[in-house]
Amino acid sequence: MNKPTILVVEDDYAVRNLISTTLKTHDYKFITAMNGETAILEAVSHNPDIILLDLGLPDIDGIQLIKKIRSWSMTPIIVISARSEDTDKIDALDAGADDYLTKPFSVEELLARLRVTFRRLNYVQNAEKEMNSIFINGELKIDYAAGCAYINDKELHLTPIEYKLLCLLSKNVGKVLTHTFITKEIWGNYVENDVASLRVFMATLRKKIEKDTSMPQYIQTHVGVGYRMIKL
Ligand code: CA
Repeated sequence: MNKPTILVVEDDYAVRNLISTTLKTHDYKFITAMNGETAILEAVSHNPDIILLDLGLPDIDGIQLIKKIRSWSMTPIIVISARSEDTDKIDALDAGADDYLTKPFSVEELLARLRVTFRRLNYVQNAEKEMNSIFINGELKIDYAAGCAYINDKELHLTPIEYKLLCLLSKNVGKVLTHTFITKEIWGNYVENDVASLRVFMATLRKKIEKDTSMPQYIQTHVGVGYRMIKL
């Protein structure tokens, strides 16, 4: 994650200043809001990565604000409040806050909480990215980001055309793709004899991914139409 933005919502000038100075010294990007109304506007327009939220705001109750933000955003919220009662803490967490700091807090504690939250955020984002970039079908695995394909975790040595073909079929798993569609996607245009080349590339690809090429498990031929990757 590059240069995350933190939204600081705090009506107390001294505390806001302390947090701002701390964030500035530690090279964090931040925006500030002095009340709930501004906080909502800033959250909508800047889509911050973390929200540091004081519960006691002049216009909107902090718990209500958390609920409002949670109705459209999953941005981590760290509550900062002078209220030290456990019920407020529980209410804030129940409303959707992720963490809680009680005033007075030390700058070190604030930084530690931010690091923990960023670590969690990074982890979730990476997991999401990985999920979208890895295709798994039976023993076949394609890592789109790395540009590698595997059968049973053994890397396949595919030519660029074979790899493109495999990706095209996997991204359309379950659908029959016509010869015209495939050749256009792979070679950019359609020429009559491309179907013959396609057949050749399909045969070499199958040799690499199918256990028995006479009974293909992954790529089905639809005679006169095209090919389809079967969802196993
Ligand atoms: Ca306050």
